[in-house]
Amino acid sequence: MLAAIGETPIVPYEDPAIDGSIHVKCEFDNPTGSMKDRIAYGMITELESEGVLSPGELIVEASSGNTAGAVALVANRLGYEAVITAPDGTSPQKLGYVEAFGAELVSCPDVDADDERHYRATAERIADERGGVLLDQYSNQANPAVHAAWTGPELTDQCPEVTHVVAPMGTGGTMSGIAKHVKAYDDSVTTVGVDAVQSNISTAFSGAESGPYETAVEGLGQDEKLPTMWFDYVDEVRSVSDEAAFAHARRGAREGGLLVGPSSGAALSVAREIASVDSDAVVVTIACDGGEQYFDTVFDDEWLAERGVDVD
Ligand code: PMP
Repeated sequence: MLAAIGETPIVPYEDPAIDGSIHVKCEFDNPTGSMKDRIAYGMITELESEGVLSPGELIVEASSGNTAGAVALVANRLGYEAVITAPDGTSPQKLGYVEAFGAELVSCPDVDADDERHYRATAERIADERGGVLLDQYSNQANPAVHAAWTGPELTDQCPEVTHVVAPMGTGGTMSGIAKHVKAYDDSVTTVGVDAVQSNISTAFSGAESGPYETAVEGLGQDEKLPTMWFDYVDEVRSVSDEAAFAHARRGAREGGLLVGPSSGAALSVAREIASVDSDAVVVTIACDGGEQYFDTVFDDEWLAERGVDVD
């Protein structure tokens, strides 16, 4: 199963209303359905090569979604015990991987980051108490580095004519790593990160004041600038509303047969903005996960109506 990580396809997204071209890198094609398989593999093998981790030991990780299953899979295959902490409300389709692969799931209340019951604080405590190693995708430099060394080169091999790269940002690892690679490949390529409205990635990027925010788009946005955000390689960060993220995920499925999650819908909306004003643009957008984890949310009319979201 580790050999099935990476080498994800890039497919053209055909939209007759758009002059430029859009290509989608299908990271949902990884074994647990997201690009996080790459960073789970990258973070664990890097710690092994540094002599910090050896098989049989305990790995601890905090995740609000896709990293949970990814770490559980890689721990299973490389011979580690794993404990995953996740906030209440994380989609059960994502957390289902954890126990299926034999890891331990610790659910935490969805409280503020400075509360000791928070899922990240809980992961730190468990690692301390049980002598485990905390991967910490929120600071671990192997998170962006694995995308620079692996995802980025795949992308430029598959689409050498790329002019723009668009990716959703949470830890920023995916965008930062790919951006580092594409800037070295051709520094005229424009790199555009995607954030949730009022989240603090775009404010940190532009140096503006930040504050609390809320989004129903899983994986998108962050409370603060993280060490995994390598802004030096990112040209721009655009904010997308939840409504637009949902609408573009649904439109991608209906009009393009492309079933992706809402963070990828947000990226698709930015790719469309770019390709509609620039007929020479060759935009590659990253589809972080697939839509099948969101049939009972983003693709459910009642769920949207309950949130007052009016999409087709
Ligand atoms: N989309 C989804 C669905 C995710 O799970 C994540 C991870 N938080 C992201 C986007 C953002 O990716 P990254 O953490 O690499 O910035």
